[in-house]
Amino acid sequence: MKIEFLGTAGAMTTPRPLCTCDVCKEAREKGVPFSRLGPSIFIHGPNLLIDTPEEITVQINRSSLNQINGILYSHWHPDHVMGIRVIESITADWIHHPEHPEAINVYLPEQVKKDFATYIGTDKHLTHLERQGYARVVQLQDDDRISVDEVMIQPIRLAEEYVYAYLLDNGSKKGLIAMDELNNWQPSEQLKEVDIAILPTGVFEYHPISGERKIQADHPVLKEEATFEETIKIIDQLKAKKVILTHIEEADQLGYLELKKIATYYNNKGYNIGFAYDTYKVSV
Ligand SMILES: [Zn+2]
Ligand SMILES: [Zn+2]
Repeated sequence: MKIEFLGTAGAMTTPRPLCTCDVCKEAREKGVPFSRLGPSIFIHGPNLLIDTPEEITVQINRSSLNQINGILYSHWHPDHVMGIRVIESITADWIHHPEHPEAINVYLPEQVKKDFATYIGTDKHLTHLERQGYARVVQLQDDDRISVDEVMIQPIRLAEEYVYAYLLDNGSKKGLIAMDELNNWQPSEQLKEVDIAILPTGVFEYHPISGERKIQADHPVLKEEATFEETIKIIDQLKAKKVILTHIEEADQLGYLELKKIATYYNNKGYNIGFAYDTYKVSV
């Protein structure tokens, strides 16, 4: 199973437009692995893309992808969906008329489909893409599994009920991919001891090494988002053989090298954790 990180930021890219902080300055100067675009992951083999941030076209162009068999969405939030028009960029074609690339399957877990109709109008974008023959929506019920190129894929609803992780099983290896929002989540037995878990980093209330407080104790983000400390507790319960953390916010003010030090700090305590960076590929 080979997984490629197309983008490893969260809602704020690094560099953040117009920001002159040290983390953004370094990212602007050096690029990848210091810079991060919006959250998106690709699973080689079944060739499935998870989530389409605004920068997805650029991300695919700089990646090693040569085919996309389908797109899975984790939830409706703008940082995960607003590049959905990439479907048109890939399939629109008037040079080879009447032949044109096939419509791309868009897999929507049941709550995601409902939320696409409730919030920022993503259902209308999709209806337009379907009408043009570019997309084909496939709804997944919560108990559904799909099999693509002999990989079983199961949506897993998280504690924040509008968000799904995906469990992948190719017969010999299992992987769990959660794009965002682990707040209050407790993994079920079925998800424990997978070969690889890809999880959102969470927000850094404290610097894990120095212990310095980084977010004010009364800030509402601490109620809305899982913190890094809470994510570590989930990692303790999951007991995955390997963990890669992604969805790294510029606002956490931790650059690529600082995150490397944090990973080493935990790995010296017996963890097997790494922080993803844009274009990073991992095989299990
Ligand atoms: Zn997000
Ligand atoms: Zn900045």
